[in-house]
Formats: sequence, C-alpha cells, structure tokens
Amino acid sequence: MVEVHSKALKTTVNISRFIGKIENQTGPTVVFYAGIHGNEPAGIFALKQAFDTISPNQVNGSIYAISGNLSALRKSQRFIKQDLNRIWSEENLKALENKTVLSDEEHEQFELYEILKTILNKNSPPYYFIDLHTTSSETLPFITINDALINRKFADQYPVPIVLGIEEHLDGPLLSYINGKGYVSVGFESGQHDNENAISNALAFVYLTLGLTASINKDEFPEIDTHYEQLKRYARKLNDVFEIIHLHRLQNGDSFKMYPDFESFQNIKKGTLLAEANGEILKATYSARIFMPLYQKKGKEGYFIIRKIHPFFLKLSEILRKRKADGLLVVLPGVSWQDKSNGTLKVNLKIARFLAKQIFHLLGFRSKKTDATHLKLNNRERVTKIEMYQDLPWYSKSSAKNKAN
Ligand SMILES: [Zn+2]
Repeated sequence: MVEVHSKALKTTVNISRFIGKIENQTGPTVVFYAGIHGNEPAGIFALKQAFDTISPNQVNGSIYAISGNLSALRKSQRFIKQDLNRIWSEENLKALENKTVLSDEEHEQFELYEILKTILNKNSPPYYFIDLHTTSSETLPFITINDALINRKFADQYPVPIVLGIEEHLDGPLLSYINGKGYVSVGFESGQHDNENAISNALAFVYLTLGLTASINKDEFPEIDTHYEQLKRYARKLNDVFEIIHLHRLQNGDSFKMYPDFESFQNIKKGTLLAEANGEILKATYSARIFMPLYQKKGKEGYFIIRKIHPFFLKLSEILRKRKADGLLVVLPGVSWQDKSNGTLKVNLKIARFLAKQIFHLLGFRSKKTDATHLKLNNRERVTKIEMYQDLPWYSKSSAKNKAN
C-alpha cells in the first residue's frame, strides 16, 4: 500500500496498483489511469470516490482504475528518475524484458505493461483508455488526444476544449503508445495540481465517461447531467478543437522562469512577454493562446502556443481520411511508404519540400524528423481498430464541434 496525500483535501488515502476494478464477461472495457505523474493525485482521489459509490451490479462490462507512478506518488513528486509518461516506445518495452536491474520508473512501467496485456486478453471490446492528469498552472479542464478520428469523435462528446497533436512534440506518452495499438485513448487535464476543483472535475469526467461508454446506465445515475454541467461551467463554455503551433522546449541545464499568472487557454497578443530563459526574454511570436505554461521545476516543456482549428478543416480532414486519401500522396515525388500496414510514410524533404505539414495533418499524419532531410510520418487512421468502434452511436454521429459556431 502507498500513502497518497492531497493538499487540496488535506487528507491521505492508501492505494495499491488497482484503485478499483469491476469485471464482467461482456460489455465495454474502460481503463482509467491516474497518478502517472506522482505530484498529480487528483485523479486518484476522484477514482477512489467513484469506485466507493458504484457497485458491481450497476456496471455493464469491465472498468479498471489503475494508479501510475506509485513510488513517485508516495513522495508527491512528478517522477523519481525518469518521467513515466515519456518512456512508452516499443524499443523501451522490448529492452525491459532483458534487463535485470530496473530503475523506479522502469519497474512501474513493467507492471503497467503486464496489466495492460492482461486486460486486453481477458476483456471484451470496445476498449477505452483514459489518463487523468493535472497541470502546474491554473487551467480550464481540457482533453488532449492523438489526432485519430476515433479519438476526436469520442472526445467530441465532452463539453471541454480539445487539444490535438501534443504527441508530435513529446516522446513516449502512455496514451500515444496505446493509441498506436488502435484503441480510443483520451487524456484529461482536470485543473491545477492542488485545487479542489481538479478532483471534482476529474470525478465528473469519470462519470461522464462511464455514461458515454454505456458502462453505467444514465437512469441509475442521473447525476451524470450535473457532472456534464459542471465541466461545461469550468470550461467556460469553450469547447473548440485546438492545435499546437509552437512549443518552447527546455534543454538540460536551461534556466527557465515563466512570468507569473498565465493560465492555459488565455489569449495572448504577439509580443507579450512570456518568460525568461537563460537570461533572455521570450516574447509571444503569435497572437493566439498560451497553453500549459510551466510553473514547476520538473518538466521539459516551457510552454505551448495553441490556435483554434476551424470547423471546416476538421470536417474536410474527416472526409479525406475516411476515403483513405493518404494513398494518393505516394504518387508524389519524394514520398513513399516506409510501411503501409502501420501507415508510415517516408518523405524526402529535399524533393518534397513543397508539401506543407498542413496537408499531412489533414490526412491524419503526425510527423517526426528522422534526420536533416527526412521526415517519418505516421498515419493514426491506418492502425485504428475501426471495426471495434464504427457501429457505435458516437462514431456515426456528426461532430458537434464541426458545426460552425
Ligand atoms: Zn501529468
């Protein structure tokens, strides 16, 4: 058992790897993670509360609530040696099996990986994976997803803003790994680490998710409506889709100080003074919105800048992806499949420099630079387990956020 403290509630709970688990042979499978970062206990407290109230005979399918970085949770710090949310790659997982000595986070990862495999083996589809986080700055509650249509469409049902494509800027988040296996995976940031509303927003999100996945019945849990209204209120009715247009990344040894009082989603003007890094003043290079400004010591991302995606482009990209229009790209000079089965394109920038990143994004690709002249592009749509989701009501519904507002 690990003792986890909440500054917001001034109280402590004892948890083990499973905060709760209810298993049934048939029905959807919903997996919640919390405390992947040890200084983010809000999700743990929310899940504990939910599992204390929901009884197994009220559940259709299986639900799991899993605690993430137990050793870091015990110490209320983000991580001990490595960020547990930056190490989920196939290479790392393969290497783990041959290692005899594991670091704290490798040990956590190994256990989480074994649990994930077991859950996928013994339960029935559809699968949903939810990761609960909080941020160091004040923020509205929001969703982060890898930009796959199943994620977009599922996330579209919550009354909070959605930020796409963080995975392009981060290596090895847990949810990117799971989404890469083809499953719906949604990250939820419920508020500032130590605010009480980060717990109540996480709880609202948990109930809403169980309702949306048909794991619990709305007639038996009428409070789902109240939870919906709560999230809508805390999100200040903002429920657009945003993309990241800039990240100020920190290198080891950088000094970095964000200027005080920035909140995620706050509008900023070009030229706004944002932070000091290595004695230099950083100004906003766009008029847009600031996102996840860093107000804690551990972390490699200083701040992001985000911009709303126009509903027209969301709709257009959905149509293009459903038609698998990405197959047309390989007729272009400098573009070839690296591996068609998992949707990986290789782009020679010397030849295909005219192709804007935007086009790849529309078609569902996320890019990583492999060397000075080559891009590797992954298409999330080609690995999606679409047969698992395509007949569900939320998948066929036209998007609420695609309607111009
Ligand atoms: Zn986190």
